[in-house]
Amino acid sequence: MIEARFDGTWEGWRDTARGLLANEIRPQEVLWTQETGQQALSGILATVDTGTSVPLRVPRGFLEDAAVVACHRSPEPWAVLYRLLYRLTHGERHLLEVTSDKDVLEFRRMEKAVRRDIHKMHAFVRFRKTGENRYVAWHRPDHRIARINAPFFVRRFGSMHWAILTPDESAYWDTQTLRFGPGVPRSEAPAQDDLEELWRTYYASVFNPARVKVNAMVKEMAVRHWPTLPEADIIPKLLAEAGTRVEVMGAARRESAAPFVPETVELPVLREAAAVCEGCDLHRHATRTVFGEGPLDGGVVFVGEQPGDLEDLAGRPFVGPAGQLLDEVLREAGIDRESLYITNAVKHFKFEERGKRRIHQTPRGVEIAACRPWLEAEMKILQPRLIVCLGATAAQSVFGRAVRVNAERGQFLPNHMAEAAFVTIHPSALLRMPDPAMAAAERSRFVEELRRVRAWLG
Ligand code: SF4
Repeated sequence: MIEARFDGTWEGWRDTARGLLANEIRPQEVLWTQETGQQALSGILATVDTGTSVPLRVPRGFLEDAAVVACHRSPEPWAVLYRLLYRLTHGERHLLEVTSDKDVLEFRRMEKAVRRDIHKMHAFVRFRKTGENRYVAWHRPDHRIARINAPFFVRRFGSMHWAILTPDESAYWDTQTLRFGPGVPRSEAPAQDDLEELWRTYYASVFNPARVKVNAMVKEMAVRHWPTLPEADIIPKLLAEAGTRVEVMGAARRESAAPFVPETVELPVLREAAAVCEGCDLHRHATRTVFGEGPLDGGVVFVGEQPGDLEDLAGRPFVGPAGQLLDEVLREAGIDRESLYITNAVKHFKFEERGKRRIHQTPRGVEIAACRPWLEAEMKILQPRLIVCLGATAAQSVFGRAVRVNAERGQFLPNHMAEAAFVTIHPSALLRMPDPAMAAAERSRFVEELRRVRAWLG
């Protein structure tokens, strides 16, 4: 048995894992030990030479997700991460696509728990003013997320001097540099300030009694966060008034991504916010949001329906069979995929589980409408000349009404999000056609339409 000692950080684990891989140490031979205090050194491997290490050749996105999983508070992540890493680099390169695999399931379970905690930290951190442009917040997350979450607060509150204290680790920002220090107990964080009343007023104004479910509310806003939330002491009063306010408000509002969409001109900020969207129920079962990607200044945006099984796993749009077909058709039409921004009308994968398979389901109108604020926000930033709608769902989102593809395809139509919008089929429609002759004819028409798109763009 090899004792792999490291400092309990993601970086320490990664360096150690590289050393183990270079020495071909199998997961079942490794005992992961976190060291603390002065003796903690990143990457120490007790009995194996760590002078050599190997670059980690793993599927795109794995290391990013692994860094999230590494924040999980349980002792399990390190062994699970190394098992996955070993298997991915030893003949199981597509392992992450096997959603029923025990290690993959465990990995995704921990990733989901940590991402949820990250989202809660975004929602529940409350700064107290301690001086001119100086703020301090104390927060107790479920997992060790102070470090991974700090860049979010830098982007949000970049012009403030702030400190976010947690029992594990603390983050400090002085408008220029982000630093980290040891954890801080609650007793050392300030308790009251002028901002409290502002928070209470804000919370009362956004409190929606039509959606109150007390048990769910306590679950979302765990009671342990209440002492640090200024609004917590007005919740009982708001709940008592809820019945009356519901009558005044009328019917409950529809589901929508709108409350999750930040005011921003930066696509990465939008992408990060979408990662924790709970605007409709689709986020509950999918692995992640799949946001758009591509150049910001290409002038043209292709909009598809929703991510498929492979896109959901890879976190990227159009990488599955329909994406490969789209690549081929684009090539034939003389369009470089790299010049396009490609996104979907609905950002989460909707599916039905049949045994081990996840079968695509078409999103409903309410889900398309719920997700539309993300598309609107993307277009506001990208300001494209042309939007190409691949299929009916994309067209419904872009035009804000039901669109019959066969009736409206092949035309450059006016649209409020771009100079024009163009409707054509979704490549998956070709994959589903049972008649090869009909599929070939449709494919030619698809290529022809994309040639017209290229010509329009000049
Ligand atoms: S599908 Fe869209 S609206 Fe629904 S949760 Fe996902 S990102 Fe939010």
